[in-house]
Amino acid sequence: MDTRNDELAKVKNQVYKPMSDATILIKAFNGIHSGFVSSADLGGSTVLFRNSTEMTNGSSEFTYGTHATTSTRDLCCALSELESASATFLTSSGLQALTLSFLALLTRGDHVLISDSIYEPLRSFCKTILPKLGVTVNFFNPKNLFTFKTLFRSCTKLVHLESPCSNTFELLDVRAICKYVKSRNPKCFVSMDNSWSTPLIFKPLRNGVDLSINALTKHISGSSGYVVGSLAVSEALIPIISLYHSLLGVSVSDEQCIVLLNALRSVRQRLKTHHESTLKIVNLLKCSPNVGKIYCPALPSFKGHKIWLRDYENLNGQISFELINNKYSLSPSELSDRFLNRLQIFGLGWSWGGFKSLASLVDCTSRLYKPLTSGPIVRLHIGFEDLNDLSWDLNNALNLPEC
Ligand SMILES: *Cc1c(COP(=O)(O)O)cnc(C)c1O
Repeated sequence: MDTRNDELAKVKNQVYKPMSDATILIKAFNGIHSGFVSSADLGGSTVLFRNSTEMTNGSSEFTYGTHATTSTRDLCCALSELESASATFLTSSGLQALTLSFLALLTRGDHVLISDSIYEPLRSFCKTILPKLGVTVNFFNPKNLFTFKTLFRSCTKLVHLESPCSNTFELLDVRAICKYVKSRNPKCFVSMDNSWSTPLIFKPLRNGVDLSINALTKHISGSSGYVVGSLAVSEALIPIISLYHSLLGVSVSDEQCIVLLNALRSVRQRLKTHHESTLKIVNLLKCSPNVGKIYCPALPSFKGHKIWLRDYENLNGQISFELINNKYSLSPSELSDRFLNRLQIFGLGWSWGGFKSLASLVDCTSRLYKPLTSGPIVRLHIGFEDLNDLSWDLNNALNLPEC
């Protein structure tokens, strides 16, 4: 029986030109044998073997539900293809993909170097768990790579990047950082949280990264309806990540994998819409006297704009901005409370990447390198509601009082 990799290879051979990601996802990931456009095979736990030899020699593709099912295999195969990775592992959340990789790669005496503007729960993990394991951590300033170079040590085993960074979207020159790391110590690994981009905007492994992490919860799901993560790795990392994935009993349901594989086929189109709508909302914000600095990589004045043009070119729906108010004497928290509570179409909620527009307050208090700001910073995710309605909502809330 053909496996998904055989099917992928066959489809690539049938078409006499290199296919783009979107085409591969639609042409090579339908039901292999059933004929249905959507492959939907609910796995389970037990696999029946045809005889005792097959049961004991590990020769069959499937052995037990937590190891692989047709649905997890298909989703992993599609993600590996998009990521240019040798293998992909699924985790129960994006955060678990991050923590699993740290647990697998770091041991007593190691040092890890992390961008300061990372996904906050990872910082808490580092502060709580890593000291117990005898691993030391340093955070470098993503706006100044000099701090990165001076903090790099001979025992630095892992460098963890995020670009654009969480909430304030600092851009890293990933290619240059990877080159530098490998020149200092070829045995040091580079991991990257690529949730902002998804592999449809940026492919970390093609830029020198060893391990690419994705919160599929965000854009890949696109619905705010699922929590799943992925870890795409280069050949050298397969044994260790596979071992820890299996030792920790990490498992993802087949239903979620089927939904995510279907959703993957429309990510490119959804990202395009997020991009266009976000540019329009940025133009609206620029005109408001109550908006200070806008954090958006597409603005030519934004630090890192050139890297964004070179490596990303797309926005993903997220922007942040500084709320300022000269007219009323409000404290920063009164100001942000009023703005958030006046929104009627934007929802107040964590996360991003779905159809729903969301607003939240950005908290930078645990960062070492805090943004210089004259007011509270608000993050928006621009979803798929009508742009006139979203603009009305923002203008209305920005004009403040009430309360
Ligand atoms: C949301 C997020 C995660 C975590 O994903 P979950 O699936 O919610 O655990 C990791 N990294 C970044 C950058 C995120 O925004």
